[in-house]
Amino acid sequence: MVCEVKENYELKRHTSFKIGGCAKRAFFPTGVEEFTNLLTELDNPVILGNCSNVLISSQGIDGDVILTTKMNAFEVVNNTITAQCGVKVPMLAREAENRCLSGFEFMIGFPGSIGGAVYMNASAHSQAVSDTFKLCRAFDTETKKVVELNKDEMHFGYRKSILQEGRYILLDAKFELTPASAEEITAVMQRNLEFRKDRQPSLSTPNAGSIFRNPANDSAGRLLEKAGVKGLKQGGAQVWLGHANFIVNMEDATSTDVSMLMNKMYNEVKDKYTIKLEPEVKFIGIKSKEEDELWDTMLNKK
Ligand SMILES: Cc1cc2nc3c(=O)[nH]c(=O)nc-3n(C[C@H](O)[C@H](O)[C@H](O)COP(=O)(O)OP(=O)(O)OC[C@H]3O[C@@H](n4cnc5c(N)ncnc54)[C@H](O)[C@@H]3O)c2cc1C
Repeated sequence: MVCEVKENYELKRHTSFKIGGCAKRAFFPTGVEEFTNLLTELDNPVILGNCSNVLISSQGIDGDVILTTKMNAFEVVNNTITAQCGVKVPMLAREAENRCLSGFEFMIGFPGSIGGAVYMNASAHSQAVSDTFKLCRAFDTETKKVVELNKDEMHFGYRKSILQEGRYILLDAKFELTPASAEEITAVMQRNLEFRKDRQPSLSTPNAGSIFRNPANDSAGRLLEKAGVKGLKQGGAQVWLGHANFIVNMEDATSTDVSMLMNKMYNEVKDKYTIKLEPEVKFIGIKSKEEDELWDTMLNKK
């Protein structure tokens, strides 16, 4: 089957930040075979899931992009769930709830895909992807072969997995959940949703979740709040008034607006507490000279 492809495709419509220029070509595989064929044929494509943890350049991406959102098949056998990388995690959390399986309650609160969630080892409310992960199929970009990786081979850590090293692309993943009562699972999910209500912006105010990772034994939100960055603005971007570790796109913000605002937040914390915060959001695409310098500083390259 020939994969759907769109040329000069604007990515802004997919990103939770509502920021992002055009990719030269965007591919939309609907299954593992189509995806692996593309990964074999294309030259170093950018892989995107649900675009909720990325800042895509307003100048776009000078190359091919594969969006996995149409890879949304999954299978439940007893207490294991195997899901393709494009499956949306809140939907999978509801499926697990319907089958009285516990372990995905935390996924109800954020708009990621399985690929992005495994890549980030997404976590919240004392649960993480790595808690239930059993194994995955991944495309090895060095050998161009499909391999299986087990939990040990994934090198999971706080918002870390081997996928971030760039060699492997996740195709699908298998999780082992724990049987529990539907009432308990529903109550935990409800609590998780309630918790987020005042503590993070809803997606109707475009954002990309936490901007910086928590430093060891501390909270980026606490440091940023004490540094007084809430409400700071840059162009159309603003530090959210409800929580200092979120940036919201108030009015047609660009990737430069967000990068500059992040840099101000980074500098405030560095100057006041000599702590260098590390971005959690990933910049993807063409960097202007200014953006290059801002991100080099925040990624501690200079
Ligand atoms: C309102 C809000 C709340 C959030 N809350 C949380 C939270 O509580 N906890 C948390 O951990 N995160 C949170 N996030 C961040 C984000 O939703 C998660 O990190 C999510 O798992 C990212 O998934 P994605 O599909 O959107 O990834 P994307 O943003 O599409 O991609 C993220 C990275 O993963 C890579 N990637 C995607 N798919 C694949 C694949 N198949 N193979 C290899 N690499 C891949 C991409 O190249 C990119 O580098 C939140 C975001 C928002 C907007």
